Amino acid sequence: MRTLKQISGQRLGHFINGQCVEPSNGEYIDSLNPTTGKVWYQAASGNEQDIAAAVSAARSALKNPQWKCISQTDRGHRVRKLADLIHENREMLAQIETRDNGKLLRETMAQTTIAPDTFSYFAGAADKLEGSTIPLNKPDILNYTLREPIGVVGIIVPWNSPLYQLAWTLAPCLAIGNCVVIKPSEHTSASTLALMDLVEQAGFPPGVVNVVTGYGASAGEALTLHPQVAKIAFTGSSDTGKKVAANAATHLAQCNMELGGKSPHCIFDDADLDRAANGVVAGIFAAAGQTCVAGSRIFVQDSIYDEFLDKLLTRTQQIKLGDPTVEGVQVGPLAIKEQLDKVIRYVDIAKAEGAVLLSGGKQPADPALNNGWYFEPTLFAEVDNSMRIAQEEVFGPIGCVIRFSTEAELIELANASDYGLAAGVWTQSMERGLRFAREVESGIIWVNTYRAASFATPVGGFKNSGYGSHNGLESLREYSRNKSVMLDYSGKAQDPFVIRVKE
Ligand code: NAD
Repeated sequence: MRTLKQISGQRLGHFINGQCVEPSNGEYIDSLNPTTGKVWYQAASGNEQDIAAAVSAARSALKNPQWKCISQTDRGHRVRKLADLIHENREMLAQIETRDNGKLLRETMAQTTIAPDTFSYFAGAADKLEGSTIPLNKPDILNYTLREPIGVVGIIVPWNSPLYQLAWTLAPCLAIGNCVVIKPSEHTSASTLALMDLVEQAGFPPGVVNVVTGYGASAGEALTLHPQVAKIAFTGSSDTGKKVAANAATHLAQCNMELGGKSPHCIFDDADLDRAANGVVAGIFAAAGQTCVAGSRIFVQDSIYDEFLDKLLTRTQQIKLGDPTVEGVQVGPLAIKEQLDKVIRYVDIAKAEGAVLLSGGKQPADPALNNGWYFEPTLFAEVDNSMRIAQEEVFGPIGCVIRFSTEAELIELANASDYGLAAGVWTQSMERGLRFAREVESGIIWVNTYRAASFATPVGGFKNSGYGSHNGLESLREYSRNKSVMLDYSGKAQDPFVIRVKE
């Protein structure tokens, strides 16, 4: 697999039909290192023509007997081989990812360690996707169902955790026998392209996995509009998700939508407040708040409001900001300049709305961090749930503290959001934890923990956070289709003018 050094300063082409391909328009996009703001490689700027070539390669691969006709068990072997190769190369993949998106090396290492487990999980499932036989009231007809690959799946990925999120979709797609065209974020293409070196080594026939890099408005749109793409697996913002779903609807392609969030993270007065403060820090400041499940609305019961805020503030002010590759650093830079600008804009919005700035709210003064896109972990108090800062996704290190009095009021407030991705609650009462889990509208609920994740856990958003799910065996259904077969062994001719309702 190519190394960080081999990527540095290079122009990276698309990966189509097993080949590195120059962009048809000859254009490349600068990819910047978030710790320095400097270009570290260029990625091909894909367009409609490149997408057409990739989809055509994927369609041919679907018909290639070396993919179409291999047994499910053999397909599983290849997916497992890919898992093993990712595991062997996990350190280099993590370094590439950190250089691209500024996440802590510890975090990207954790992600590249989970990714092989995700592929192994689906490798094992490859030969366990069963159809069924359906009992009918027609004694001479055998009805059975088959689960088949859907066809060509377009996978669109954001910049915050490119490989980790790609694994959610790529692993089940390959286990079932689909072919894919991946469009990574224009900001973070390197790790996906490095992964293609491993895809080749794992023995997937050319065209089974393709990558077209480039902007959302060109390569992304072309993929969603391509009539031969049967399903779009989209991870990204809710606004883009709505455009993607509209484009996919032009040819009735299915969609799986993993979108944004504004997740409530709730602290009751019977909680272990030290553990809860730790959980809140993990929820909003890990990865500089650039996680879809960021617990950005921090609800604190009024009886412990001051005590909890003291603890949270102390923890927040101790966070070590810096170079994500340096041991001991806890928060790195924002991944892209646009995101830094957005965070700065939302600090101004929150102040103008009357929220009280407790901590952060600015770029660090440390001259060593001057060139990167760093922003101090920021806390606002006395936030009202109706404010824009509490309703709109910032996707940065800004936590909003909101008071509540009763459980009933909290449930109302937690659900008063257009989003429904994740929610967390801290309480010693099992009954309250279970009631919260039942009443709060979100795809994952954490009780006395936050950001726990597993490839075996099916998760998907509600409301503007999307639909469909990733991970877990349910993914096998997301990326396969059902076919019903009816076989008449009566040997009799039937009345041709009447539908066969009975017998
Ligand atoms: P984004 O929506 O701007 O872009 C996501 C991807 O879509 C990128 O590859 C981009 O190039 C592409 N794209 C942009 N416009 C497009 C178009 N018109 N047609 C097709 N593709 C297009 O999101 P982002 O800023 O890259 O990522 C951050 C967002 O992703 C946040 O909202 C975050 O919550 C969300 N996210 C969700 C999950 C989840 O599992 N629910 C996980 C990670 C990130």
